[in-house]
Amino acid sequence: MTRIIAIALGAATLAGSATAQELNLYSSRHYDTDERLYSDFTEATGIVINRIEGDADELIARMQAEGANSPADVLLTVDTSRLVRAENAGLLQPVESDVLEERIPENLQDDGNLWFGFSQRARIIFYDEDEVPNPPQTYMDLASPDYEGMICIRSSTNTYNQTLLASIIEHQGEDAARAWADGMVQNMARAPQGGDTDQLRGLVSGECRIAISNTYYFARALRTEVDGLSEGIDGIAWIFPDQGGNGAHVNISGAGVAAHAPHYDAAVAFLEYLASDQAQVYFSAGNDEYPAVDGVPLAESVQALGNFERDTVSLADVAENLDLAQQIFNEVGWE
Ligand code: FE
Repeated sequence: MTRIIAIALGAATLAGSATAQELNLYSSRHYDTDERLYSDFTEATGIVINRIEGDADELIARMQAEGANSPADVLLTVDTSRLVRAENAGLLQPVESDVLEERIPENLQDDGNLWFGFSQRARIIFYDEDEVPNPPQTYMDLASPDYEGMICIRSSTNTYNQTLLASIIEHQGEDAARAWADGMVQNMARAPQGGDTDQLRGLVSGECRIAISNTYYFARALRTEVDGLSEGIDGIAWIFPDQGGNGAHVNISGAGVAAHAPHYDAAVAFLEYLASDQAQVYFSAGNDEYPAVDGVPLAESVQALGNFERDTVSLADVAENLDLAQQIFNEVGWE
């Protein structure tokens, strides 16, 4: 019996050696738990994953340079804006998959099925509990003169801020979004510097009273020691903005199948696997994110943040405002 299976597998391997038994994954994710994801996928399907890791913009540039000869099967990255950039550069192809249509919420996927979100992160308000008795409850509140000189937020070159402003344009319109961005610049505690973790560190150091950050940077500092943050994390409180309104802005980590994928079927199988309950747990927990699929258990560090209402606006629609968002940032002098 053992021998027959071995022979059958050997034949299958030979027949399939040039086609479906491997997958070239271009990934800007680099989390320890992702290793488990890849090995489980290989175990379940026999498809070996070759990983090319790099910065999202580098990977996109590489795919462009490689053109029709690109070995890339799947592009896996964070932030809608980067997926849309890959889409606009013609680097992705549509995926017809009942599994993905059914599992991934409509607002977290591209209308043309060029990309799908597999985990979510909210961009929310953190504040110094002792220093801010009346914290802002909405994104629009942040721009109120009440918070002059209090807010730390990173540069406008950052994709998270670009997508946030694009979502404000979508909900409030261009004029309100411009007034908001202008008010934010007035309220900054310092010129934008560093990443989201540095905004949170500013709460601990006392330089900032309010900080804007994606949820996973905070959750990570709850789970593991983050220098300059974990030791003071007890004094930090948070607000999920726009509860009872549009809900807190969420962005995604997601993937699409490369336009010239040599292993299309394996690529689709990989995306479908990422949407499975088991993969969703690892995928989101690897970076302290929220699963894209409803009902999948949250990591402990993420659960600690509590439940909230998410903005369910279509991220594909939001992405159409990205150029205008950049223009507004420039106009208001948001560095
Ligand atoms: Fe990040």
